[in-house]
Amino acid sequence: MPLAVLDVQHRGKPGRWADRGAVAFGVEEVDLTHRYALAADKVLRAAGWDCCVLADGHYADRWARADAYGALVYVACHVDGGGGDRGTVYYDARSARGPALATAVADELRKVVPWPVLPRPTVAGDRAFNTIQGVRAVALCFEPGFVDDPVEDHRRVLVAQAETLGTALARGIAAWGGFPDATPRTYAPATPTSR
Ligand SMILES: [Zn+2]
Repeated sequence: MPLAVLDVQHRGKPGRWADRGAVAFGVEEVDLTHRYALAADKVLRAAGWDCCVLADGHYADRWARADAYGALVYVACHVDGGGGDRGTVYYDARSARGPALATAVADELRKVVPWPVLPRPTVAGDRAFNTIQGVRAVALCFEPGFVDDPVEDHRRVLVAQAETLGTALARGIAAWGGFPDATPRTYAPATPTSR
């Protein structure tokens, strides 16, 4: 059974225990990410996947745990801040199988949100890259929307339907498949960061 590790980032970072990620309009990023990760867990298990939700430790340690568990897919769970009005599914530009996974997830997310969603490669130096750079699984940085989206209706959807974002994430992963012939990436993990 393939394993997806869903990492509720920000939450549980040693030294920054109170990190809640982006905060706007009284909404905390980690509340949304935790809600959608748990919803995705449910849908993934129903689709025949194993699923593990992480919410503590340095990011490098979380990547090491995902590797140790034999994860096929790793998702750094976020909701953006910065006032955009879109969703982005980032994949590691070094990954051969990342584009198809990111595209499958973006296709599913686009069905349930009223804003544009795009898969995008991420490279060294990018913020998104720093969230996934050291894990061997096929990795995504999932940024389904902006907590401070200027469109009020978008913010309302984000808060009211956080679970729907997770359902879309899970459906995308399941649609991608990617197993049973999965070959973990073999390059060495990059220098860990704690972003
Ligand atoms: Zn974040």
